[in-house]
Amino acid sequence: MARAIRKRSWAEPFKIKVVEPLQLTSREERQKALAKAGYNTFLLPSRLVYIDLLTDSGTSAMSDWQWAGMMLGDEAYAGSRNFEHLQAVVRKHYGYKHVIPTHQGRGAEHLLSRSLIDPGDYVPGNMYFTTTRLHQELAGAKFVDVIIDDAHDPKSQHPFKGNIDLDKLRTLIRKVGAERIPYISVAGTVNMAGGQPISMQNLKEVRAIAQRYGIPIYLDATRLAENAYFIQQREPGHQSKSIAEIVKSLCSLSDGCTMSAKKDSLVNIGGFLATNDRKLHEEACNLVVVYEGLHTYGGLAGRDMEAMARGIVESFQDDHIRARIGQVEYLGHRLIEEKIPIVLPIGGHAIFLDAKRFYRHLPQDSFPAQTLAAELYLESGIRSMERGIASAGRNPETGEHYRPRLELTRLTIPRRVYTQAHMDVTAEAVCATYDRRREVKGLRMVYEPRYLRFFRARFKPL
Ligand SMILES: *Cc1c(COP(=O)(O)O)cnc(C)c1O
Repeated sequence: MARAIRKRSWAEPFKIKVVEPLQLTSREERQKALAKAGYNTFLLPSRLVYIDLLTDSGTSAMSDWQWAGMMLGDEAYAGSRNFEHLQAVVRKHYGYKHVIPTHQGRGAEHLLSRSLIDPGDYVPGNMYFTTTRLHQELAGAKFVDVIIDDAHDPKSQHPFKGNIDLDKLRTLIRKVGAERIPYISVAGTVNMAGGQPISMQNLKEVRAIAQRYGIPIYLDATRLAENAYFIQQREPGHQSKSIAEIVKSLCSLSDGCTMSAKKDSLVNIGGFLATNDRKLHEEACNLVVVYEGLHTYGGLAGRDMEAMARGIVESFQDDHIRARIGQVEYLGHRLIEEKIPIVLPIGGHAIFLDAKRFYRHLPQDSFPAQTLAAELYLESGIRSMERGIASAGRNPETGEHYRPRLELTRLTIPRRVYTQAHMDVTAEAVCATYDRRREVKGLRMVYEPRYLRFFRARFKPL
């Protein structure tokens, strides 16, 4: 008998207390909805979505302990108890001195970019993230990708495809001068590369270079706990360390971080900027009152900060991370067995379908990854997201499309939300979409917003 069920060594370390019904739709309904949404999954109403794999951002299920914390919201305008709790938890787990809450990750990115960047600066980073790069550009900097070449190759099995290429970094520093580089932007589990981790060793080497030139390092800590899991599993010398210990070591190699707590930290809204730099803290406090709210709430309710503080604690539990990434790997292995082209190694928060190999007959200008997201929805009601030429946007200097080598469709797994059966249904839907691949003709863009175009762009079938 063929082995239909893959053995797995984990189960969810929780049971379900509250459920939310899912909606099934007909193919005709989905066809109509898709046309109305301009073939952009961001423009679909969620009531017409069956399994929602658009993003893992703000879509996690909170625990009973987090919900209990919501009732303890201290909604004082200034100096809320929940801020004190959040500050203590961030100091303990991430190790930075100063903490400023923000409404979500991009709020923190805005504060950091505006505070540290002067027009004409350069910010090197391990591949761009959409909002991160845009805030750097709006502050007047040019983002320079210094990730290793393997990261751009969906077939490379490098265990740490999030690593920085030290030669690329040194070359940039020599070319533009250290004084033109306000900070190095280092992300954990690099989203756009397919959820790929950076190694402890690489960050140590980056730190050594940065220190020699007096350049600070700011982490995008959005998925740092998930990055720590890969270090624990793959990097010699870390097998017996806990996720919490590894994260603390990573942070100790940096000067601060921006955080979207909507990911690792298991909340529906929230983020923070943390730093050891007193001057940056002072400047960010000045800006936060203009753009987010007082420096002790940053656009959040007290109850949100409490849920975030508790979510951070839960996000560092080893059995949580093992089950979370275990579920992503389960889906990935099912697709590998079916010979579906995906980015390898399997990432931390999502499976990335390689749309270039999925639709070999489509040129990048007909938006293969966007097409795949639309086709998968049409097939099954499952919602995914484009991470290719539409997400990459245009070069602000030349006006040309950025043409990323990676043209991916992301199946992002919310934390603690779906079951193994949902993963099976998803794998079957991807296979059915793959079987119909030759009938598909691609899309053209008919409306293009100025910033972060992928969110609201509209398309028509070719
Ligand atoms: C989501 C995300 C951000 C931005 O955070 P928001 O909470 O969506 O504003 C920044 N960096 C990475 C890696 C992310 O995934």
